[in-house]
Amino acid sequence: MKKFPYLLLIVAVFACKSKPSADASATFAIQETAIGKIDTSAVTEYTISNPSGMKVSFLNYGGTVTKIITKDKAGNWGDVILGYDSLSGCLQKGNPYFGVLVGRYANRIAKGKFTLDGKTYQLATNNGPNALHGGLKGFDKVIWSVEKLPGDSSLQLTYKSKDGEEGYPGNVTATVVYSLSSNNEFKIDYKATTDKATPINLTNHCYFNLSAGADSTILGHELMLKASWFTPVDTTLIPTGKLANVMESAAMNFTEPKQIGKDLNEVKGGYDHNWILDKKGKVVGLDLAATLYHPTSGRFMEVFTTEPGIQFYSGNFLDGTLTNTKSGKKYIQHAALCLETQHFPDSPNEPSFPNTILKPGETYTHTTVYKFSVK
Ligand code: BGC
Repeated sequence: MKKFPYLLLIVAVFACKSKPSADASATFAIQETAIGKIDTSAVTEYTISNPSGMKVSFLNYGGTVTKIITKDKAGNWGDVILGYDSLSGCLQKGNPYFGVLVGRYANRIAKGKFTLDGKTYQLATNNGPNALHGGLKGFDKVIWSVEKLPGDSSLQLTYKSKDGEEGYPGNVTATVVYSLSSNNEFKIDYKATTDKATPINLTNHCYFNLSAGADSTILGHELMLKASWFTPVDTTLIPTGKLANVMESAAMNFTEPKQIGKDLNEVKGGYDHNWILDKKGKVVGLDLAATLYHPTSGRFMEVFTTEPGIQFYSGNFLDGTLTNTKSGKKYIQHAALCLETQHFPDSPNEPSFPNTILKPGETYTHTTVYKFSVK
């Protein structure tokens, strides 16, 4: 038995020696590709690859995640998010926020209105009567500055949003770090500071389909949400302020993995709700929030977050009309789903919801990890 550690050491040394040191695929790498211009700003696609060959690509425009390339259980690589074949795809009218960073306030604010320190602010209403995803030109439609961090596995994006931008108070500096680990974890760290009190709710809006193009919808994916409660909404998707237990509504219960198509027809319009995550007793911790499984490919994704909520959106408004899509695919209703880790919608108008107001001197932080494996 005593010899065991020595044996391990010899095996380890041998394993290292047998790996050709010039094998680029065995290291982290960052590649930059110029993909176009918006006005005078160059748009660049950054690709981070890890030693096992997983790749995540994103743009400095909107922080848009353009590709997540992972292996299936047979060892074939595939891209598990929806997107476009060119920059003109991203810029088309009606782009439903594919892969973007959403801010200053992800999700809805009722009637685009909130009152802070006695002053009422009116935002543009860009979703029926409500404000959605930061306004007409939110954080998803601006150029972020990008900086490489040491180690070739992460990049930091920074955007400075001016006082009054899209109607919000305060000069806000937002930084987001995209990292890829050797364990196939795509991590997003968000931070923000302000010089006046302002609502902040940042998220990412990737549309996942783990079949990597094989299935036209996600109805056969199995989803688990670590959430016993959700926030019911009115007909304009604004929370009513009440909390509902998933045990009282079978269609909303994802506490055990369930096929998305199973009860979808019982939810008017499809899933587009905020679930309240069961936290492990801590206020802020990086806890498991959701798992997503595609049985045919074996691809499995786990979502971990420090946020209190997750919006599960089943791609209800996709209707096959987007152009310049990857390989010219028709993105039909339910072609993909979003799992948007976040604070609850309309929190600035719901004092009982966790606080979303960032004050000068404070730092907003949020971490979400999407971990990919097969089973
Ligand atoms: C919202 C949907 C909306 C979609 C935009 C989601 O976060 O909940 O209602 O249609 O974003 O593409």
